[in-house]
Amino acid sequence: MEEKSDKLLILDLDETLIHATENKLDISEDFLFDKYFVYKRPFLDKFLSDISRHFTIGIWSSADDNYVTEIVKSIKPDNVELEVIWGRSRCSVRRDYDLDNYYFEKRLHKLKNRGFRLEQIIIVDDTPAKSKSNYGNAIYIREFSGEATDEELKHLHDYLLTLKTVVNVREIEKRGWRSDKEAS
Ligand SMILES: [Mg+2]
Repeated sequence: MEEKSDKLLILDLDETLIHATENKLDISEDFLFDKYFVYKRPFLDKFLSDISRHFTIGIWSSADDNYVTEIVKSIKPDNVELEVIWGRSRCSVRRDYDLDNYYFEKRLHKLKNRGFRLEQIIIVDDTPAKSKSNYGNAIYIREFSGEATDEELKHLHDYLLTLKTVVNVREIEKRGWRSDKEAS
């Protein structure tokens, strides 16, 4: 059996793995939660099953903790284990002085006591501000709003495999990660 990476892969939830909206879209929802129609990003089940064979994975969202727990229950394949399922209570409230508002930030050093150094943590998010202080660890993914033709998770899977054995993920330039996929 192929050996698992020593990396921890942290995935955002809203607009990264799912799209939840109070306004029903033209396509049928995957499930309902509270007042939300929830749409899974295409390839989500396969992505989670496949990538968890290579990485330790966790979910960290800035949405409220109960929402995160319940949504994760509905999207997690049975064979997938999650190291963390974290919500807003694990985020740090930061002030954006330019825009004069507040936002929730995911500070990856909080994962140290799970046995992972910053060099071993990859975070995937559609909102750069939420992992601002750890930009070297971040892969930014296109926002998902329910598009049935979206292939981002397929491409992300292939790209992540290239990071599986690197020593320090922070030393890898990740900004152009999708560039070779644009044509396909
Ligand atoms: Mg998001």
